[in-house]
Amino acid sequence: MSKKRLWAPWRLGYISQTRKAKVSSKCLFCEKGKSNSDIRNLVIARGRFCFCLLNLFPYTNGHTMIVPYRHVADLGSLKKEECLELFELAHQMMKRMRRSLAPHGYNLGINLGRAAGAGIPGHLHLHVVPRWVGDTNFMPVFSDTRIISQSLDSAHKLLRRPS
Ligand SMILES: [Zn+2]
Repeated sequence: MSKKRLWAPWRLGYISQTRKAKVSSKCLFCEKGKSNSDIRNLVIARGRFCFCLLNLFPYTNGHTMIVPYRHVADLGSLKKEECLELFELAHQMMKRMRRSLAPHGYNLGINLGRAAGAGIPGHLHLHVVPRWVGDTNFMPVFSDTRIISQSLDSAHKLLRRPS
């Protein structure tokens, strides 16, 4: 992330969700990976080893995560083909974002461990966050959660179209 902090108040829901997740032992990524409800789960694309889904509590519109199907916490535990597909899918998502959202830049990142900010530390995932010049100033416009859920639906429709 850039030095300027993005103001994303809807992420409060995410923080309380991860607190609840500590109580339940179910892994959200494993569940969504196995589920057939791709529309409900905001899944954009599926590969052989990894799948892509929108972040329900995005930093910006179109914030996507690439997730291996296997429940793996460390990069070193990924097989070569899983690693390769993780980055191939990231590239594909960026191509789709370029076409439909026209971002000015991207942040790509993996938070390893809770101390590094991982919401689901047991199951690694690569964040692809589209960025626009001035989006740190622009974000408060989206402070209403209803507006965000509409933008999630439209981002999902846009990004599901294969490139
Ligand atoms: Zn998992």
